[in-house]
Amino acid sequence: MFSKYRKLNETDSIKYVREKMDIFGIDEEIKSEEVGNGNINYIYRIVGEDRSSVIVKQADKKLRSSGRDLDRDRIRIEAETLILEEKLAPGMVPKVYFYDSDMSCIVMEDLSDYEIMRDTLVNYNVWERFSENITDFLVKTTLPTTDVVLDQMEKKNRVKQFINPEMCDISEKLVFSQPFKGHKENKVTLENQKFVEDMLYSDENVNLEVAKLKYEFMTNAQALIHGDLHTGSIFIKEDIIKIIDSEFAFYGPIGYDVGNIIANLFFPYIRLMVLKEDYKNNKDFELWIRKTIEEVVDKFQEKSLDYIEENKKEKMSQTENFSKWYVDQIMTYAAGTTGLEIIRRIVGSAKVDDVESIKNDEVKAKAERIAVKIAKKFILNRQELSRGKDYLNIFDKVVDKEL
Ligand code: ADP
Ligand code: MG
Repeated sequence: MFSKYRKLNETDSIKYVREKMDIFGIDEEIKSEEVGNGNINYIYRIVGEDRSSVIVKQADKKLRSSGRDLDRDRIRIEAETLILEEKLAPGMVPKVYFYDSDMSCIVMEDLSDYEIMRDTLVNYNVWERFSENITDFLVKTTLPTTDVVLDQMEKKNRVKQFINPEMCDISEKLVFSQPFKGHKENKVTLENQKFVEDMLYSDENVNLEVAKLKYEFMTNAQALIHGDLHTGSIFIKEDIIKIIDSEFAFYGPIGYDVGNIIANLFFPYIRLMVLKEDYKNNKDFELWIRKTIEEVVDKFQEKSLDYIEENKKEKMSQTENFSKWYVDQIMTYAAGTTGLEIIRRIVGSAKVDDVESIKNDEVKAKAERIAVKIAKKFILNRQELSRGKDYLNIFDKVVDKEL
């Protein structure tokens, strides 16, 4: 029945799973619910009588929210990335039970007993092992796919395998152009409109630095990266994380993933600082978020250096001081990306709840200003941002002035 592409609905998704898999009994009653909250794909959660369950993620050519067209090949990239990541970092992504290229579906492990990390950070939950886990994921999934480690023929074939033009085009526009050149979908509080024009649109200096970062994103096929690694793509439970939604994966700069993580840790921190009541009641969160930002940067740097020292195979990478140079340039790009991701989430159309859900416009405007100011400094001073405390120093100075 499902050998040629057609878009599923809840009823069909049950028939689909019955046809393709034998995890549910013939007479077993099973239920399906579309649980997707993203704006791109359809996610069906399918549960049997004994509560065994799977997730079916389907990519349709028409986007879930806007109805615009997008190549279904993105789900192949997502599946192949998940399968590779499971090999490189076992247990850190949902298990892929089945990938169906005809139907553009992935049937995967149901992670409903985990929480989406962003939802927990809005409530100031702390996760003690997060910096350890995420830096493991970053190092284990990206560095082994680089020229430093892989045979050059294999690496180039992988670049081909993971070429992802339409998804990259989305990032190139939403992250690297629209927030800086101005765009009709950009939106900030009324009182910050002029501020954003002055700080971003008419600042040629920042535009030039963003252009440099954009050209590196477009041309530096360094490693297979996730491409959209924000806290909404992280399922978390106690001391385990699982990374989902790798449809933006492609061969790009490693620092892009690292910077995305750092940026998304600043959003709940900014929220905490502007909401006075929250600040009084959540001192433990402030301690944890500061420690975590610092550790994500520092541990990533240290683990990367160790990994390269131990695993470098390419001839010229054996040269003295190569590893340090290689990691330094990743850290610089990470700092630039931290700034880019903060700005695009504040100014651009894809908002984050941490700031978007602040009801009082005056308070929200303050959060926007802190965000844009630190982000600009991260971009302009990216070469000097090598340790976690450098990020916190910039943050503290801006917050001191704004609050
Ligand atoms: P999109 O690509 O459309 O953004 P995501 O992969 O981000 O979709 O998933 C959207 C939502 O669907 C997630 O936030 C989560 O609530 C749910 N979801 C996705 N994958 C799983 C999974 N493996 N287990 C449980 N829920 C999932
Ligand atoms: Mg997605």
